Formats: sequence, C-alpha cells, structure tokens
Amino acid sequence: MAGAALRLEAEINYKLASMNLVHLLPVGNIDTALLESVSRSLPESLPVRCEILAFPFDPAAVYHAERQQFHSSEILQRMQPLATRSWRLLAIADVDLYIPILTYVFGEAQIAGPCAVVSAFRLRQEFYGLERDEDLLRERLLKECVHELGHTLDLRHCQDYRCAMASSHAVEWIDLRESTLCHSCRSWVEAGRRFDVA
Ligand SMILES: [Zn+2]
Ligand SMILES: [Zn+2]
Repeated sequence: MAGAALRLEAEINYKLASMNLVHLLPVGNIDTALLESVSRSLPESLPVRCEILAFPFDPAAVYHAERQQFHSSEILQRMQPLATRSWRLLAIADVDLYIPILTYVFGEAQIAGPCAVVSAFRLRQEFYGLERDEDLLRERLLKECVHELGHTLDLRHCQDYRCAMASSHAVEWIDLRESTLCHSCRSWVEAGRRFDVA
C-alpha cells in the first residue's frame, strides 16, 4: 500500500505544481529578455505562474514562401502534442504570423485551451517606421499574451475597448487596452472556474 500512497502523493504534488502554470515556448530566435519580461509580468495580469521551456520551437515548417509569413494555425497544431503536460502552452514568436483569410494576426489561440501563440513582429514601433521603444513593445506583447490566454480560458471578444479581450486589428487598438480583464470578463472566468483552486 505504501507504493500506492507514494504514487498518489506524487500525483497530488504534480497537480499542485502544474496548477495555473503557463509554459512559455520560445519560437525560433525570440529574444530571451522578451520572454523573461512576459514571464515576470503575466502573473500581475492573471492568476498564473510562468515557466520558460528550454527547447525552442522551430517555425521553419510553417513558413509559406508565397506569403513570406508563418501560418499561426499550423503552429497551434504542431504545439498540441507538446501540451499534454501543460495547463496552458503559450508560444512567443518574433515572426510574421497569418491565417489564410487575414493579412496578418498578432496571435491566435485555441478557444478553451490549451495552446496559444503570439508574435512580437508587428508590435515593434520600427515595423511602422517609428523609433524603437522597448517598453512599449513589452507592454504590447504582455497585452497580446493576456488576450490569447483569455481565449484559451474560453473568453470571446469584449465590447469594452479597455479590456484585454477587446478585438484589435491594428496596433493602436492594442495601446488602448489594459493588460487586465474587465470586471465582466473576470466575473465570467471566475464563474466558469477556469483557474485551478487548491
Ligand atoms: Zn482575439
Ligand atoms: Zn472584458
């Protein structure tokens, strides 16, 4: 019986250790400082913890030469087998993402989880011919991470333009958003018990 009790204890410890744990998956040669900034700031916006995974995801296979972009839905598909031990698996990229019906996307997520991907590529001021601003980049990336994680928690787009779940088709809209959920989105997540409680 001791063996069974130990196994049960190990299982419980594993469950506690993986509660609300977001694994951050580096894509290609994403800047480590950006990953670390997400890892530090995400727990201030959502009741989660972060861990940066050591193995990067190679996006070469989802590159489409005819568009010179990377297909975000294919990234999500390829992440699926990696997500079996993750509460949420969030890929952070620095390449131009798209889905076939749109010119580009800032990120994409599986509604109700567990995988999501965001990219810093179009969040940089330099992309728009403006002066580099690292603080603004980190802020935008955080907001995008909260937004896509929100989708993995089954949240849809919110009408409140300040909410992290507001839709955004341009970077200016991201700047209007807060990095947190509005009261109504937060209540919805709490009512649906989307976060693990010990
Ligand atoms: Zn969205
Ligand atoms: Zn909202």
